[in-house]
Amino acid sequence: MILILMGPPGAGKGTQSQSIVDSLSIIQISTGDILRKAVSEETDLGLTAKKYMDSGGLVPDEVVVGIIAERVQEPDCSNGFILDGFPRTKGQATALDEMLEKFNKQINHVVYFDVPEKELIVRLLSRSQKEGRSDDNLDTIKNRLQVFKEKTEELISFYQLRGLIRYIDGTGSEEDVKERLFSSIGI
Ligand code: ADP
Repeated sequence: MILILMGPPGAGKGTQSQSIVDSLSIIQISTGDILRKAVSEETDLGLTAKKYMDSGGLVPDEVVVGIIAERVQEPDCSNGFILDGFPRTKGQATALDEMLEKFNKQINHVVYFDVPEKELIVRLLSRSQKEGRSDDNLDTIKNRLQVFKEKTEELISFYQLRGLIRYIDGTGSEEDVKERLFSSIGI
């Protein structure tokens, strides 16, 4: 199973990835988590990524594509994986297609979490109090939402044309969203 979770910042991709990881034995690959780890370890990758992440912009395609290309070749990806936060641009989506073609694999579903913008801002501001993520402040949140509209939203039609998109209502309790997610992908 190869699953892509798509949606604006704060839509619940990371939270719901965890519920799938717990139910199916497949792993989650979050580019945001990988990048944040690199930033905290001050590796070369982290130093490059930090300036983009702090402003709410996207880390360049070649950097994230390189991360994913290496990660999906690890043995723990052989049963499948959930991509959380990747792809985020047409370039990344095309690179992913090329990678999967090489391994003779296919995307099963792309789930889009629909959450109104007002609710996203409330969620991200509340997360900033709990987790202290440096990009969860109002200016950066607004920028991330704008970047999502400009660069990522067009991927909905990119995948819709291939019949892969599953829209779900991302509002309500975690349990409600989990139920909608599971039934949208037939598990
Ligand atoms: P959110 O979905 O809340 O924005 P993420 O953890 O997915 O959180 O991403 C945090 C930041 O990491 C993004 O604002 C961006 O700077 C960087 N990032 C994560 N994934 C990608 C990606 N696929 N392409 C480019 N930048 C990325």
